[in-house]
Amino acid sequence: MGLEDIRNFCIIAHVDHGKSTLADRFLQCLKAVDSRKFRDQMLDDMDLERERGITIKARAVRLAMPWKGRVLQLNLIDTPGHVDFSYEVARSLAACEGALLLVDASQGVQAQTVANAFLAMEQGLDIVPVINKIDLPQSRVEETLEEMRSTLDIAPDTVVRVSARTGQNIGEALEAVASRVRPPRGDLAAPLRALVFDSSFDDYRGVILYLRLMDGQIKTGDKVRLLRGGRVYEVTEVGAFRPEMRPEKTLSAGEVGYCLAGIRDMNEVSIGDTLAMAKSAVQPLPGYRPPRPMVFCGLYPADDHDFSALREALERLRLSDPSFTFEPETSEALGFGFRCGFLGLLHMDVAQERLERESKLALVQTAPNVNYEVALKDGTVVRVDNPARLPEAAAIQELREPVVRASMIVPAEAIGAVMGLAGERRGVYKSTEYLSVQRVSLVYEMPLAEVLYDFHDNLKSITRGYGTVDFEFLGFRAASLARLDVLVNGERVDALSVIVHRDEAHARGKRVCEKLAEEIPRQQFAVPVQAAIGGKIVARETIRAVRKNVTAKCYGGDITRKRKLLERQKEGKRRMRSVGSVEIPQSAFLSILTAREPAGRARGGA
Ligand code: GDP
Ligand code: MG
Repeated sequence: MGLEDIRNFCIIAHVDHGKSTLADRFLQCLKAVDSRKFRDQMLDDMDLERERGITIKARAVRLAMPWKGRVLQLNLIDTPGHVDFSYEVARSLAACEGALLLVDASQGVQAQTVANAFLAMEQGLDIVPVINKIDLPQSRVEETLEEMRSTLDIAPDTVVRVSARTGQNIGEALEAVASRVRPPRGDLAAPLRALVFDSSFDDYRGVILYLRLMDGQIKTGDKVRLLRGGRVYEVTEVGAFRPEMRPEKTLSAGEVGYCLAGIRDMNEVSIGDTLAMAKSAVQPLPGYRPPRPMVFCGLYPADDHDFSALREALERLRLSDPSFTFEPETSEALGFGFRCGFLGLLHMDVAQERLERESKLALVQTAPNVNYEVALKDGTVVRVDNPARLPEAAAIQELREPVVRASMIVPAEAIGAVMGLAGERRGVYKSTEYLSVQRVSLVYEMPLAEVLYDFHDNLKSITRGYGTVDFEFLGFRAASLARLDVLVNGERVDALSVIVHRDEAHARGKRVCEKLAEEIPRQQFAVPVQAAIGGKIVARETIRAVRKNVTAKCYGGDITRKRKLLERQKEGKRRMRSVGSVEIPQSAFLSILTAREPAGRARGGA
């Protein structure tokens, strides 16, 4: 197939604006899937994605489109829209020449619409703007067109209007992709250079490389080499996703597909690497900017014996998600485990759930924190991603925390409330800009630690669901911070330490103690829970001793209920860790997080 018959594009949008649904319509419209096998959100095939209704992994699918008497090869890459997964978006963009920018007509331009569109424009992609959900009675097409013009400089007459639900104008959207996205460039005769934009692992066939070929060709039997990894492999199969894996004779410059080469060791593969012929001396393709983890937590096996199983599970997860980091650490309280870094809280949540599901491990997770830059008196600067590892106060010259630029889009009538919220979170006001009469873009600079946990939820509630926010990392800035330690029964529990702003240290210490007193079950003796800063106790609670056996309240009568209670206790114990003579349940470690909120606003769990 000639290059001029290929179009590589992705769909970018704010979350829930209809990317996956539109991809479904494309698949149906171009008859890529048998109608009997079709199901909604066809490409979201991970259980977790279907349950949560979000796309976590980008997908690639090849479609054949009749066009002007030819048959085009469309390679569509579906991407996740949530801010935590923008790394996936960036990776997809590098494999494409075009981006279909989707905007929900009932929601208008949102924070991630702007962020993703700018990413695509920066990379020089051809943008095909599309407004979706025109079937909804509450759609505001004209206003949305105006917002796209004012924020993104998109001419209204270039915007295609569709309904991914009813299928209205889907043909026009495909036509726009075919005619406006430029065909890939590349040299068929040049030596092979392919971008590894993704990978996954199959138990029987090993690593599956997702490739975008820039130059040359690849076929079964070729001896190839990953430039970063260095090892030589023999290709056993190449093919395309349609959407299931289907073998092809060759993959050529400009095309998207997969390659199997008997790679068993996941560590040899890194996303963004270049695949080349074993003996050729080509230059590597520009890879990706390495992702920057923003949130860190400790992950420990609930059962000590599972340490190496956990390491294996983490290695496997990293293969399909290169954007998290992990390294071994030890905790006095929790034993051997890993310190993991994630792009955000949702990312952390999803990763933890995938780990537990895909490897059937029970995990103990510590409360997430940001990382800090510490300037020491001896002139050195260190990064600290575990509060327990913060150097002695006496050695510290300056403590710096990560700061982000928060770009919010909110209804005009909510400006006052949003400014109030941003102020509470130590935000520094930067600018205001009206997108239309009703909607405003507000920019603040804020400490990441202040926006990490519940900022988005609070923004949603004060804007009745209409406010959205996108964060961009700016750098580290000095702040008045201190480490708050927690002592249970007189012993410091390293996994419970947090770094807090000095102004709120006392209040925070008090809430942490209250929370822990609720979470830690009563023991045979009274247990004091204390919060301390630099050795000085700032708050204290006492967990009173138990007097009766746990089954005593069953009045001896109902035996099944008694058994159930004991079983539940046993299950809970699996996730308990003994610290000294006190048993601390998994939930206590996470309760540190909810202890941010003033009393009364706390929500259950984390
Ligand atoms: P994504 O997060 O961008 O992939 O969005 P989804 O494709 O998962 O869609 C989010 C929600 O919007 C789902 O409930 C879809 O059924 C719904 N949706 C998508 N497109 C349309 C549309 O054109 N009209 C209407 N009424 N609903 C739509
Ligand atoms: Mg989706």
